[in-house]
Amino acid sequence: MAAEQDILKMPAPRRPPKLTARRIGIHTSSAGGVENAAERAYRLGCNTFQIFSSSPRQWKPYELGRPQCEQMNRLREKYDLKPLVIHTNYLINLAGTTEVFLRKSIEAFRGEIERALALCAEYLVLHPGSFRGADREKGLLQTAAAIAAASRGLDLAKGGLTILIENTAGAEYSLGGSFEQVAEVIEHLRNHVPVAACIDTCHVHVAGYDIVSEEGFQETIRTLDSTIGLKKVPVWHCNDAKAARGSKLDRHQHIGKGTIGLEVFRRVLNDPRLAHAAFIAETPIDQPGDDRRNVASLKKLVKLT
Ligand SMILES: [Zn+2]
Ligand SMILES: [Zn+2]
Repeated sequence: MAAEQDILKMPAPRRPPKLTARRIGIHTSSAGGVENAAERAYRLGCNTFQIFSSSPRQWKPYELGRPQCEQMNRLREKYDLKPLVIHTNYLINLAGTTEVFLRKSIEAFRGEIERALALCAEYLVLHPGSFRGADREKGLLQTAAAIAAASRGLDLAKGGLTILIENTAGAEYSLGGSFEQVAEVIEHLRNHVPVAACIDTCHVHVAGYDIVSEEGFQETIRTLDSTIGLKKVPVWHCNDAKAARGSKLDRHQHIGKGTIGLEVFRRVLNDPRLAHAAFIAETPIDQPGDDRRNVASLKKLVKLT
């Protein structure tokens, strides 16, 4: 992210950002402490946001003391930032087939849950993993078992925390390329831990679902409803795509600048069946201000009723 420009170092906005009838946010930097992400999200015009609570490509978690959690809570209350979504570190693979790596992943995921609870986050997003060396069915079962193992003894329901299984681009051995696979993990965990789904528009598109044509969109939403259930999707990742539909290539693009296009996001954001969800962008920052522009693009699409 060479072009990143820290909004915290810029003058504070004089007027509060305009709000919309939807919860809209973006994945926000936790540089300098997770609590800083709340101030950044507000300045970017968000009323919800997503963060990492550990470095996304290292095992080491961020420093997380009680004062930081309290400050995070204060800022979220002050700015009405709801929900707080935490995205799990990318190294964790709960479908992993070597015992050492699996144990390490379960331990790291347990840390993710503990930090999410400490931060009073509502959602913790997890990719269902890669089943290389096994088969898909076993991989899905193992991911569910590993989530159950990682959360043993932790009271997620009391903390108001739900684990969200994210659909993926479905490349090679990665699990979660279809709604059915996400639904299967959720089903396995139904009696163990609060669990639902996070649906990423870029992943849906490159996995091969049609969300671009009006007819295809309606069909895809019907499929989503009959597998996972629309009420079981409290968070949408709103990302345009660089690659073609069905390419299985996971490359996010700015809202309206990719192979999905602005009209699809207008449809998603204004669909009354999805109105309960939070919509969070995970778009690239190629130029300074891209994060703010992508949030603004999403907000502009929401009809004012
Ligand atoms: Zn995503
Ligand atoms: Zn992605």
